[in-house]
Amino acid sequence: MSARKPLMAGNWKMFKTPAQTAEFFEKFLPLVSASTHADVLICPPFVDLAAAVSAAAGSNVAVGAQNCFWETKEGAFTGEVSAPMIKAAGCSAVIIGHSERRQFFGETDATVLKRTQAALASGLLPVVCVGERLEERESGKTEDVLRTQFTDGIAPLSADDFAKIVIAYEPVWAIGTGKVATPEMAADAHRCLRSLVEAKYGKDAAQAVRILYGGSVKPDNVKGLMAQVDIDGSLVGGASLDPVGFASIVNF
Ligand code: PEP
Repeated sequence: MSARKPLMAGNWKMFKTPAQTAEFFEKFLPLVSASTHADVLICPPFVDLAAAVSAAAGSNVAVGAQNCFWETKEGAFTGEVSAPMIKAAGCSAVIIGHSERRQFFGETDATVLKRTQAALASGLLPVVCVGERLEERESGKTEDVLRTQFTDGIAPLSADDFAKIVIAYEPVWAIGTGKVATPEMAADAHRCLRSLVEAKYGKDAAQAVRILYGGSVKPDNVKGLMAQVDIDGSLVGGASLDPVGFASIVNF
């Protein structure tokens, strides 16, 4: 049994209004109030953060954002939200480099690194996403892709900074598709990431870092994934929108 406390995180993507956020928390909180085995995090859209923070106050559920800008000083950056603003709104975490950001919004390993550094400078826990696309897996390039994403997007962090991040392995072909990686496939990728961490930051850092799996996690497949020693939690999209379903994932 690993000493790493699991992190069960929900990524709501572009779903739910503030009123629907309040409704979710009303149903969800009682179902996870005794769930001390894991850290629980919900990442709603920006406009729902205030409702989520207020609903989650005093509970064991943390609230995070889905992205932050890399500039930490306020300024003329229309449409962007800074990490200090997210922190001031009562959040404790932020997802960085989700594959939908990489695919639709030009996110690169270089911008992932800058956003992660901004999140860390603002006292937020960055959940940094990596993962290969289908054609990359099919052509046997999964480990090369993970190595590049790690080397360019994460490894420039100092050891002190690295100790404060969470990595999420999300194979792009498994996100929102219903195609989940088998526990063994996920475990292989997690082992690969942990060995990259060990080569750069040493054994202790590799043993300490939490690596989440994301990609079509559901109540009926979470147990097999969480049984893998190198999987330290889940980043859950679609299935985190339902309070009862996500609570059963949290309580795997
Ligand atoms: C995600 O959005 O990070 C995700 C893994 O989505 P889904 O669970 O819907 O595949």
